[in-house]
Amino acid sequence: DTRHNILLYVEGVNKSFDGFKAINDLNLYIREGELRCIIGPNGAGKTTMMDIITGKTTPDSGQVWLGSNINLLAMNESQIANAGVGRKFQKPTVIECLTVWQNLELAMSGVRTVWATFRAKLTAEQKDKIESVLVLINLADHAALLAGNLSHGQKQWLEIGMLLMQNPKLLLVDEPVAGMTHQEMDKTSELLNSLAGKHSVVVVEHDMDFVRSIASDVTVLHQGHVLAEGTMDQVQNHPEVKRVYLGE
Ligand code: ADP
Repeated sequence: DTRHNILLYVEGVNKSFDGFKAINDLNLYIREGELRCIIGPNGAGKTTMMDIITGKTTPDSGQVWLGSNINLLAMNESQIANAGVGRKFQKPTVIECLTVWQNLELAMSGVRTVWATFRAKLTAEQKDKIESVLVLINLADHAALLAGNLSHGQKQWLEIGMLLMQNPKLLLVDEPVAGMTHQEMDKTSELLNSLAGKHSVVVVEHDMDFVRSIASDVTVLHQGHVLAEGTMDQVQNHPEVKRVYLGE
């Protein structure tokens, strides 16, 4: 069975808004530990797809499974998050008046109640977890800094770190490098590559140089359907992709 290592199954999914098919017979399979980029023109259905996986939008038909036994369509948004699906939106939601460390501590509790979190004493294991995430997100030297004083890029990394505190199986990341400097983009590419293996990571991104730099397989969405899949070179040379992107 070639599917034994698939973590996310999206099969035959359809979603219409007022008769307009935003998602049209969508099939997407993400392997355990895989890093996958999703690209596609505006209106291709990328956001709607992420909304369906995370339970924000209910599809009209189809199947969405995490592994072979978790039916995501039978769950609400918070149940899906608890099942191991983390989503990073483009706009960071870090708490600016707390330090980097405190943001991670809060994220670990899973309860967005500051008071309840900080009354509890951290175990050595929890401290180790925060420290290892700090290293991963390039903020080990900034643990005591208020999140409000971080650069835009650093806030994005902290946000990813906050998701990691929950040990997600699947991370959905929306336009991680929008507004970043080239240096920050390089570090983000390293970060996402280092997450793969331990987590499955799905990245929606418009910046083609960045997509190329993360060297993952690429899925091209068009009109709510998968138009092409493969390496960046393969999809760029795909005749249908050339037609859609370049009008050839
Ligand atoms: P992308 O993220 O690839 O740009 P979207 O998933 O946002 O694409 O949108 C796909 C299509 O579905 C677009 O034509 C959009 O206008 C439409 N759409 C998305 N959400 C809604 C909604 N809540 N109501 C009506 N139309 C929507």
